[in-house]
Amino acid sequence: LVSEESRATATPMMEQYIEIKANNPGSLLFYRMGDFYELFFEDAVEAARALGITLTKRGQHMGQDIPMCGVPIHAADDYLQKLISLGFRVAVCEQVEDPAEAKRRGSKSVVKRDVVRLVTPGTLTEEKLLSPSESNYLMALARIRGTSEPQLALAWIDISTGVFRLAESDQSRLLADILRIDPRELILPDTMFHDPELKPVFDVLGKVAVPQPGVLFDSATAERRVTRYFGVGTLDGFGSFSRAELAAAAAAVAYVEKTQISERPPLGIPERESAASTLFIDPATRGNLELTRTLSGEREGTLLKAIDRTVTGGGARLIAERLMSPLTNPAQINRRLDSISFLREEPSLCSDLRASLKQVPDMPRALSRLALDRGGPRDLGAILQGLRAARDVVAFLERAMLPEELGEALTDLQALPQALERHLGEMLADELPLLKRDGGFLRDGAHEALDEARALRDQSRRVIAGLQLQYAEETGIRSLKIKHNNVLGYFIEVTAGNAGPMTDSPEAKARFIHRQTMANAMRFTTTELADLESRIANAADRALSIELAAFDRMVEGVTAEAEAIKRGARAIAAVDVAAGLALLAEEWGYNRPAVDDSRMFTIEGGRHPVVEQALRRHSSGPFIANDCDLSPQGSEFGALWLLTGPNMGGKSTFLRQNALIAILAQMGSFVPAASAHIGVVDRLFSRVGASDDLARGRSTFMVEMVETAAILNQATDRSLVILDEIGRGTATFDGLSIAWAAVEHLHEANRCRGLFATHFHELTVLSEKLNRLSNATMRVKEWDGEVIFLHEVGPGAADRSYGIQVARLAGLPPSVVARARDVLTKLEDSDRKNPASQLIDDLPLFQVAVLREEQRKAGPSKIEEALKSINPDDMTPREALEALYALKKQL
Ligand code: ADP
Repeated sequence: LVSEESRATATPMMEQYIEIKANNPGSLLFYRMGDFYELFFEDAVEAARALGITLTKRGQHMGQDIPMCGVPIHAADDYLQKLISLGFRVAVCEQVEDPAEAKRRGSKSVVKRDVVRLVTPGTLTEEKLLSPSESNYLMALARIRGTSEPQLALAWIDISTGVFRLAESDQSRLLADILRIDPRELILPDTMFHDPELKPVFDVLGKVAVPQPGVLFDSATAERRVTRYFGVGTLDGFGSFSRAELAAAAAAVAYVEKTQISERPPLGIPERESAASTLFIDPATRGNLELTRTLSGEREGTLLKAIDRTVTGGGARLIAERLMSPLTNPAQINRRLDSISFLREEPSLCSDLRASLKQVPDMPRALSRLALDRGGPRDLGAILQGLRAARDVVAFLERAMLPEELGEALTDLQALPQALERHLGEMLADELPLLKRDGGFLRDGAHEALDEARALRDQSRRVIAGLQLQYAEETGIRSLKIKHNNVLGYFIEVTAGNAGPMTDSPEAKARFIHRQTMANAMRFTTTELADLESRIANAADRALSIELAAFDRMVEGVTAEAEAIKRGARAIAAVDVAAGLALLAEEWGYNRPAVDDSRMFTIEGGRHPVVEQALRRHSSGPFIANDCDLSPQGSEFGALWLLTGPNMGGKSTFLRQNALIAILAQMGSFVPAASAHIGVVDRLFSRVGASDDLARGRSTFMVEMVETAAILNQATDRSLVILDEIGRGTATFDGLSIAWAAVEHLHEANRCRGLFATHFHELTVLSEKLNRLSNATMRVKEWDGEVIFLHEVGPGAADRSYGIQVARLAGLPPSVVARARDVLTKLEDSDRKNPASQLIDDLPLFQVAVLREEQRKAGPSKIEEALKSINPDDMTPREALEALYALKKQL
């Protein structure tokens, strides 16, 4: 398309199109033509297919028809939404001058057009394109290669709310960090995108990851670019940032500028998140636990769905964010828990608050659209309504002695601008149109000149209605009508057969000026009508310009208070989350967990939050509550439980419920348990179920081992590990051996708290050797050859698997079941001398312990000695460097 020949032979309009298209590769070009956006060539073909709209042709180019399709302006948002959700990016090209201007330049001149905005998944602001309950993050990933380990950093921005955050990352936790934020679009330098080491990360992210030119991430100019965006001289006032963080931040704002072109969304100042302050949940665990999406990608059946009782968009986004990033600082967690405790004790205040909160519209998003000049009267209405509802919330909160978090929210809400609220209230009509260009959003009485113009317009309309009667009488044509359309304005219409009296005489002809003859109608005008028409048009023009000026003033008023409004909106969200969680606690009998810095993990009467609700919904009997105690006993470290029991006994449910309870507690929620005492968990790992990854060419067993490896390598003595059926996907002895070694490693090397479910009963003998390992089992009752699942966890080991009974329940033919029983009996006979049962006596304990002991006995290593002798305070930088080199040599 961009060849010389192509350009030379194009019509002027096509020439312009080709030029603009060439400047915006990788995007569909929406090219403004009158009331349509039109797409041409390959874009048209792709869009027509994606949108299911008609593909036509317009003119020719180089002897070929030009494929074309179009979408009407007024429905453009719907089409954009569809395209964006399908992974397209769209460049919106508008006319940027008055068509009259182009005509003045010459008859062949084309109206100037330019791309005013790139619509990409991470930079949306339109209500229709956004989900109210989800944040819409654009994320930038930057890497700085220094002398040591490369530094990675992430910056993420939601331009629909102005949130802007930064964090450092590293290769091992990069995917986990990205998934925790769950961006819609991740931009990164080309070179990283093609780095084979990082390929697995971007494979998982798929279309979300978008490579960009390296200059966007240039760290030398990063600080300057960020300060320029915020219009400040230095970033010192914002805190201190690493070079990688600055590079990511600069790339993110540069991309925002690139996509928004002439507009600058109001971003909050960048806030730094430190990795240590949030609970690390690795990607597999995040998926397996179905926190915000089920393994099949749905929202129904997730933990979020089960606990979310919020009533505002901001609240819904905040609870999702808290669930994705639980905390590790007990003080911060308890601050949130205090809010819920308080509201639990004031149920009527809680429900009053919720009633007011329901009235709060999405203020941050309305604010963002207004600031980007994309807002309409309803966005102003949203701000007004939000300010009013916030005042009710203030009134309720002021009456009580509030805990810290709610107290701070109250302060922010009290600081909302009352003058702005008054002003908007005086100006805005009760019913608001969508578009400002339609006018009619100022209330009567708001503006004197506007009232006059409106009166004139309405009066003239009444005069026109009078004229219709008068003309009908004058001509004797009873069916004569005065109508209006955009081309002719007001006109008189009579049927062709009736037109006689208006064309008969010269007098009539002079009075009724012929305008148009249709198939069966004739249209006329008169000087009176034309006169009225222009009076109406003038009045309407005047009215509209008054309204538009008032609109701009109101927008200025709103953007001047942007900071206060955003803080207020955050406060509303925090109150909403606390009230929602208090209601949840009341509905389902959740209790406040004790959260501290210990290594405790004691849960009494714990339940699975999602399964419990599902059972009640389907009236399938009660959920059986179970205890779990992994707290240290006579040791500094927490305990491990080895859980056996038949399939369908409830092992997975029990494992997951304990992980979910930890997450709920650390996000600052009450938990589904009679009581819970949790020493904060730093990392949570789970390996549950057989998540198939065959699409990526890995066998189920391979996936299982990769995930297990990650756990054994990363779990610390503050971590919580949930392992379900390790070693299932391979031959029995292989599997048993791997499971055996994994349990030993967790006990001896990781020393974490953990639950290990297995069908290898042989493993239960390990508890004799490993002092922090206990056996637990899902109890079943056998009755008349059938097994009844009690779903109760008790101490001890299961003596058998009941696999055949379960198979029978599943409907295996009776002959097969009977045959299986025979085979089993034979196998059990020949297996009496189970080799595994001998292991415990023959096999020395896992090597880690031995290694550690040897190290202790051997005393400190040479390097350790050397390190000890160094005193950094007494060294010059040069000496320090030399010492470092010397140390390195000893390796
Ligand atoms: P396993 O992992 O042992 O095969 P699951 O945890 O998948 O068993 O549980 C099987 C079914 O039993 C679940 O679908 C659930 O409906 C039910 N169940 C599990 N635990 C409980 C419980 N504590 N109370 C009631 N029903 C339960």
